[in-house]
Amino acid sequence: MTSPLDPALARALREAPKVELHLHLDGAMSLPWLLERIRRRPDPAVRTLAGLRSRLRYRSFAEFIERWVWKCGFLDRYADFESLAESVLGDLAGQGVVHVEPSFSPGDYERHGLETPGLVEAVLRGANRASRETGIGFGLVIDLIRDHGPAVAARRLAAVSPYRGEGVVAVGLGGSEPAYPAPLFAEVFAEAARLGFHRTAHAGEAAGPGSGRSGRRWTPSAWSGSATASARSRMPPSSRGSRGRACRSRSARPPTSGRGWCGATPDTPCRDSSPPGCA
Ligand SMILES: [Zn+2]
Repeated sequence: MTSPLDPALARALREAPKVELHLHLDGAMSLPWLLERIRRRPDPAVRTLAGLRSRLRYRSFAEFIERWVWKCGFLDRYADFESLAESVLGDLAGQGVVHVEPSFSPGDYERHGLETPGLVEAVLRGANRASRETGIGFGLVIDLIRDHGPAVAARRLAAVSPYRGEGVVAVGLGGSEPAYPAPLFAEVFAEAARLGFHRTAHAGEAAGPGSGRSGRRWTPSAWSGSATASARSRMPPSSRGSRGRACRSRSARPPTSGRGWCGATPDTPCRDSSPPGCA
């Protein structure tokens, strides 16, 4: 597909410094990178990039999830996650991204016998290497995964707590909103706050805007700092606002209709043009 953009504009956009606050690390690998992993245990239906593109095509959210689970099944050793982080952050740096806060769901890989600490350490090794090589900054967001329930989320939080300040900046919630509504995790998020983590959540994508509102009730501070201090420090001064603060105004957020919005980026940086109520 060719870009409809004027080439000069496309180049200017690529070169502009950018901050990426909503990116799923294990959804951002390049297709050649994924194909290398698939070829370790060949799937006759997927031998080429064209075949892989075709296998990943989807028409519904259910199909999207099936493709996601299938693809993640090929990441089955710690070294994959070190390579993944280095590759994704390197690609982002090449697109002009100066800071990224990727979300990562270590619990998805327990089926391969991989444990959260080892996975987090592997990702941090790869991310740190990319950071040294390209200058890109990062802060990892660990998805506690709604569908595993609050008890597992609490254990997962304890497992990642040693890495706060070592590259992990926040915990998040992804997964099935209707089956596992946000209030179930209030105690876990309170503990995350006590440990000093930023907190964020996917909300309103699968259960409507009410899910996001309930999220704000159970943990209002979760929405106040997703653009962490480290992220804001990487933004151009003109987009940080006079005091580099995060905007807490609901009206500043994207509308909750359509695809919904993701709690990973609920707060836009305050600007002089921020709407009334931006505090
Ligand atoms: Zn997301």
